Amino acid sequence: MTENDTLFGKIIRREIPATIVYEDEHVLGFKDIAPQAPVHILFIPKQVLIPTLDDLQPEHAELVGRLVLAAAHYAREQGFAEDGYRVVMNCREHAGQTVFHIHLHLLAGTQLGRFGA
Ligand code: 5GP
Repeated sequence: MTENDTLFGKIIRREIPATIVYEDEHVLGFKDIAPQAPVHILFIPKQVLIPTLDDLQPEHAELVGRLVLAAAHYAREQGFAEDGYRVVMNCREHAGQTVFHIHLHLLAGTQLGRFGA
């Protein structure tokens, strides 16, 4: 893929450590370093650098599906499916995006608050 100089590119290449909890051919899942819930996992594409949700193209549809399925699979496997959980993708400044390699946040393990500003 295009050289991925983001923090998450370094995690994919194992240049910086992360607690990896899920991996398949296309997707890597690892614990967020500053968890916002008892369970906070980031799911990222391994082979394609897509900076933001706004950069998605039709050919990325399968990959985005894989990210969502990976999160749902992990949540079910870990026992969070029945009580429920949240998945979030932040896009750019107003959403607070800080790492420009798309990632799906999985938040679980507690009653989550409603969205707000
Ligand atoms: P964003 O704000 O871009 O949607 O999410 C980026 C996430 O990456 C944040 O939740 C932040 O805590 C997490 N993060 C930042 N630096 C690191 C790191 O070095 N390792 C891990 N595992 N997560 C990180």
